[in-house]
Amino acid sequence: MSDSYDIAIIGGGPGGYVAALRAAQNGKKVAVIDKRRALGGTCLNVGCIPSKALLQSTAKFWDAAHEFADHGIQIGGLNFDLGLMQDRKDQVVAQTVKGIEFLCKKHKVTFIHGTAKFLSATRLAITADTGENSEIQAENIIIATGSTPTSLPGIAIDESKIVSSTGALALKKVPGHLVVIGAGVIGLELGSVWRRLGAKVTVIEFLPHITPSVDQEIAKILQKELTKQGFVFKLSTRVVEAVTVENEVALHLESDDGKNSETITADCVLVAVGRKPCTEGLGLEEIGIALDPRGRIQINDHWQTNVPSIYAIGDVVAGPMLAHKASEEGVAVADLLAGRYAHIYYDAIPAVVYTNPEIAQVGYTQEQLKSEDRAYKLGKFPFTANARARANGNTAGMVKILADAATDRVLGVHIIGHEAGEMILTAVAALEFGASAEDIARLCAPHPTLSEAIKEAALAVDGAAIHI
Ligand code: NAD
Repeated sequence: MSDSYDIAIIGGGPGGYVAALRAAQNGKKVAVIDKRRALGGTCLNVGCIPSKALLQSTAKFWDAAHEFADHGIQIGGLNFDLGLMQDRKDQVVAQTVKGIEFLCKKHKVTFIHGTAKFLSATRLAITADTGENSEIQAENIIIATGSTPTSLPGIAIDESKIVSSTGALALKKVPGHLVVIGAGVIGLELGSVWRRLGAKVTVIEFLPHITPSVDQEIAKILQKELTKQGFVFKLSTRVVEAVTVENEVALHLESDDGKNSETITADCVLVAVGRKPCTEGLGLEEIGIALDPRGRIQINDHWQTNVPSIYAIGDVVAGPMLAHKASEEGVAVADLLAGRYAHIYYDAIPAVVYTNPEIAQVGYTQEQLKSEDRAYKLGKFPFTANARARANGNTAGMVKILADAATDRVLGVHIIGHEAGEMILTAVAALEFGASAEDIARLCAPHPTLSEAIKEAALAVDGAAIHI
């Protein structure tokens, strides 16, 4: 007799474990299966959390080296210990994983360590890393297997000289020259970590601009600020070949129009050109689960696959590859399976780029509104005009609000600046509740705070900002 559950969840990342906790709260008997021994998936183990730990440590070092003097603080003999920094990062990860394990135990969620494969619409085979096989039965199964880094043809990731985000988080030595392929979120966040510790960082991007998913006016500000920090950007450029010779990687680059080419060398190359959904080895084809043309699991409006007992959430389905999006979907499916109502307003999912300055955005970009021919109003407010930003010494950036020209309804909010990620929830609430720019403008913002810039940008939508 195999064990039987109400819900089995393949993948214990922020999609899977959150679905498990909510399903258990809803009174279901739940199992989570993961081939990684630790719960938390990419986010906790080799993604969001370790990268934020290193970004925090290196930001402190950078500030001590470059900003403290402006505040009248002098430090002699400033240095860092990369080993201790990495140990701290590992401890942050371990504590966070332990917290999730505790929550799963508290809610009586069974964690099964092993690789799952579908035997039928309600049965899974599980292979432990000892090779031992078992089977479980579940009324419903949720696929939450996440995504994995992609590479480029002819560039093999070895996690030593040519690394993905996983390798870039674990370097034991600061590279002399780090070449980052892809000016997206991972490239710029991890590029920042190593730049702040002294690496020369060159970013190769095949588009003519950085961070394609970000409002381009905001992206330009980020590029300017990162350039000031020492980043070198080579845009409209592609990597044709990467050859490892002894301790170096030689990269052959070509401009987009094919007119220019050059070869540069790197001590380390970070490939950050996107991620692909993890669908291999699950036996999806055998049980007839349909994929979309981009290899993601196809679902209906209720996250249900074409096999009715099976659902899919997170990076394996369409939408932004973000931990919080996966978690929201996990809660939604767990609630649906308990007979409750569930809905996600995808236009109000925020995204943050944890560089310095940070970018935080929700809703439409100006480019998207233009491409859809929607009439909009625009309000902007720079942090140079915000007293708290000046007191902090972090005046780079601005808040930008896009509102419907006819109704004033907020369509998009874009913040670039210090602590942008901590400010975006106000904007998320505005979008979720269908607020107008005037609604935000009428909020009483505490003074002096950075978030006053959100109120001022909302006032600016009607040309009525006070401090500019
Ligand atoms: P991305 O999609 O953010 O950026 C990839 C970049 O690589 C793009 O700018 C793209 O134009 C460029 N590119 C693609 N092919 C290229 C080529 N051949 N040569 C040069 N450039 C090329 O992908 P990512 O940075 O790898 O991140 C993967 C996913 O993980 C994203 O969906 C991202 O949102 C998510 N993520 C989010 C966070 C966060 O929320 N802070 C952090 C890390 C990762």
